[in-house]
Amino acid sequence: MAEVRLVDVTKRFGSTVAVDRVSLDIADGEFLVLVGPSGCGKSTLLRLIAGLEDVTEGQVYIGDRVVNDVPPKDRDVAMVFQNYALYPHMTVYDNMAFGLRMRKVPRDEIDRRVRQAAETLGLTNLLKRRPAQLSGGQRQRVALGRAIVRDPKVFLMDEPLSNLDAQLRVQMRTELARLHQRLGTTTIYVTHDQVEAMTLGDRIAVLRDGKLQQVATPQDIYARPANVFVASFIGSPPMNFIRGVVERIDGEVRFAGGGLSCRLKGELAETAGACLSSGDGHRREVLLGVRPEHIHARPAEGSAVPGETHLVATAEVVEPLGAETFVYVTAGAASLTVRVDPRLAVRPGDRLALTLDAEHLHLFDAATEQSLR
Ligand code: ATP
Repeated sequence: MAEVRLVDVTKRFGSTVAVDRVSLDIADGEFLVLVGPSGCGKSTLLRLIAGLEDVTEGQVYIGDRVVNDVPPKDRDVAMVFQNYALYPHMTVYDNMAFGLRMRKVPRDEIDRRVRQAAETLGLTNLLKRRPAQLSGGQRQRVALGRAIVRDPKVFLMDEPLSNLDAQLRVQMRTELARLHQRLGTTTIYVTHDQVEAMTLGDRIAVLRDGKLQQVATPQDIYARPANVFVASFIGSPPMNFIRGVVERIDGEVRFAGGGLSCRLKGELAETAGACLSSGDGHRREVLLGVRPEHIHARPAEGSAVPGETHLVATAEVVEPLGAETFVYVTAGAASLTVRVDPRLAVRPGDRLALTLDAEHLHLFDAATEQSLR
């Protein structure tokens, strides 16, 4: 078994708490993506699992074994870094074989494993080249190959694609997904890139200031973010927030804020209702969250005024991206980002009627910023 288990893991560098009581179970064969802003502790967490840093408190398990005191080379993990760290004077073949030779693996076995990995990664014709004679993408594939030939229990990858240009990144991302499907090796993958996180991860773990914020499938993180931080971090452009109150008026649960006043429906009304006392008059300060893709825009009639179900907004900045257009608007006190159909041909200054998709609204407590769900 190659599950990885972190139990209350803390890492301090002097007074800096880089990782703060993180507990996390990564299943055998799972692809877990670690995301978070710069300095949140992603690389440190990976280095703790690899054994390149010592844990200050807590336990790291690989399989059934606590590995806190096991040196990196005996943990049976392979790490892939963003700077490929290839040996420049060695051929691709020798770069891939090096780790196995150090481990005194028999020659035939090394040859078999290197050729198999080269085949998997499309490197067979490049085995005699040196790193200087390779493109960035090919070098990164050699770095992956070096990890694969070891057939480790766990892959640890620290932004492995971040030195590649946009097109190669996309290509390598697909290759990584295919590789994981084929090998099924437990993988922990650090990235800044949302698309990588959403497309590669069986689950995503979001870190902030060394603390775990939420661990869930990409769909769940997107649809049910645990707090304002996760809601803003996952999704591009980020979720919009409208500050306001929820209150019960004539038995209805309503939101009012940023020029919007609307009745909440379905699950959201139940959630909001549950945190209000049963009588009229009680209110709670909240942030209403809505993603740019869950706001529907149409041209506003000349005399349009905000209504029960819509906002009237003015387009400030228009960003056409081809398949979709993002429009930055002001609507009363609120500034919002809206995804619109490019065929609407919105121009700065245009007035838009915006309808929020009632099925896809989020409510967060204004003070704690935690989801009310
Ligand atoms: P980035 O995305 O920028 O690579 P990260 O999320 O990987 O950031 P870490 O490199 O894990 O962040 O750093 C977490 C915190 O620990 C930071 O505040 C960093 O300054 C600090 N830190 C990391 N390594 C050391 C070290 N060797 N000595 C002291 N502080 C460190």
